[in-house]
Amino acid sequence: MDHHMSNVSTVDALRGEIMALRSAGKSVAFVPTMGALHEGHLSLIRLGREVADVVVCSIFVNPTQFGEGEDLDAYPRTLAADLAALEGAQCDLVFTPTVEEMYPANFSTRVVVSGVSEGLCGAERPGHFEGMATVVAKLLMMVQPDKAIFGEKDFQQLMVVRRMVNDLNMPIEIIGAPTQRAADGLALSSRNEYLSTERRAIAPKLYEVLSDLAGELSNGGEAACLIAKAAGRLVDYGFEVEYIELRSAETLAPVERAGVEGSSRLIAAARLGATRLIDNVAV
Ligand code: AMP
Repeated sequence: MDHHMSNVSTVDALRGEIMALRSAGKSVAFVPTMGALHEGHLSLIRLGREVADVVVCSIFVNPTQFGEGEDLDAYPRTLAADLAALEGAQCDLVFTPTVEEMYPANFSTRVVVSGVSEGLCGAERPGHFEGMATVVAKLLMMVQPDKAIFGEKDFQQLMVVRRMVNDLNMPIEIIGAPTQRAADGLALSSRNEYLSTERRAIAPKLYEVLSDLAGELSNGGEAACLIAKAAGRLVDYGFEVEYIELRSAETLAPVERAGVEGSSRLIAAARLGATRLIDNVAV
């Protein structure tokens, strides 16, 4: 059967399409993105096809989750290629709103998720999770999906979204999807496009060092000391380390030793030149 993908840019048109899908009895999976799509995003679309009848994707570079001096203007925008990739992955509906459509004059509401938004990227990027949670809340209200899929690549983001959906009683199942990587281990990211050839060759060391460290931590060693050594290795490779932390995979609370209380996650952010890379691994 021929596959047809619709593309709408207004909330009214989106609601019309969703209403038609609902009338036809379809369950809906939703994948929000900022575009510049890669295999990581497409893996979420494919997972959506497995868990629901139709998949809705949004492409919106959300200005309110970028801080002063961050890469909002430089962020890659590749709409034509994105639409072709989504069509290829059999996405059913794409929502591509303008900034004015999402934030009309007098827009005043902010969604603040305390606790899990603090520390890690929340400390390095003030206001980021507030902007993200606000736009995700809006998108979830617009699409009203049965399920929404987020990548584990942005582990703290996944935790913030889970907390928000729980706290606000949104009747939506949040699904976390595994991080897709290049053959050399680098987590796929739209921001990898910023890397020079030289730095692209160094970038996989972040995952390598994290994976080694996770192995050491799983033997029950004290986190602080092992983390400091790993950070030193990254600095030697040319990274500027923002943080490496061992956290509870359920609550994101700091963990001093792996294996003592439930499962933990090793979460890191580091810069190579101006490019900020994040990654995380299970311990
Ligand atoms: P972004 O467009 O970067 O905002 O990401 C949109 C969604 O794709 C988020 O849920 C991300 O966690 C997810 N994502 C980004 N990179 C990857 C990856 N390498 N593997 C799996 N999911 C990813």
